[in-house]
Amino acid sequence: MDKWLDIFSPKTIVLELLLVGICILDDPSVISVFISENPLSRAAVDSATHGVIAAMSWLLVTNLQMTTRNLMEVFLSGVLGMVIDIDHFIAAGSLSLNAATSLTKRPFLHNSSLILIIFMLLYSLQQCRQFSGILASVPWIFLLAWTSHHMRDGIRHGLWFAPFGSTQVIPKWLYIGVISLCPLLLKAVVMLRWSDSDHSRTGSSTDHQGTAVI
Ligand SMILES: [Zn+2]
Repeated sequence: MDKWLDIFSPKTIVLELLLVGICILDDPSVISVFISENPLSRAAVDSATHGVIAAMSWLLVTNLQMTTRNLMEVFLSGVLGMVIDIDHFIAAGSLSLNAATSLTKRPFLHNSSLILIIFMLLYSLQQCRQFSGILASVPWIFLLAWTSHHMRDGIRHGLWFAPFGSTQVIPKWLYIGVISLCPLLLKAVVMLRWSDSDHSRTGSSTDHQGTAVI
């Protein structure tokens, strides 16, 4: 029972509030107060925000246990949250920021259908090969990081589910709800899969390993 309380531990609540605060303040009207109109600065802040939200999301899943493995997973989540936008440059066929941000259609990694497809491939691979360590968490880190990126982009462009079509622009309340709830849901899945035999591998609130293998 105690382990379920970890989902709503004080440090989890503080991090959740921080995450929600970032999502609320992550608005062009707020950012323009602090950041110049320089496109490079804006792109850097935008990319960093994707990374911070993805990293904080996985930090919530790890129950804020600062093990080396968890920190590496948090770092990986941040990188995965940012790397999607590389498709702007690939689609533009140029390293020019102007070209990358002037595309007439959304680049391929912003197809939200890919999230489910890639996640299922990674999860199937994980089930077949029974990876351990960080590799075992990769499917879930990917799922959380990419979902957060697509949802954040969705408040400006909607979600694009090729070949089916696109949604309207996502309301900000829905975006914040998904961003704040997904880590907790994933954390609950981690809890459900904990068993005595897993403790040596996954850690728990009592052994303080705090790893998040799913
Ligand atoms: Zn993007």
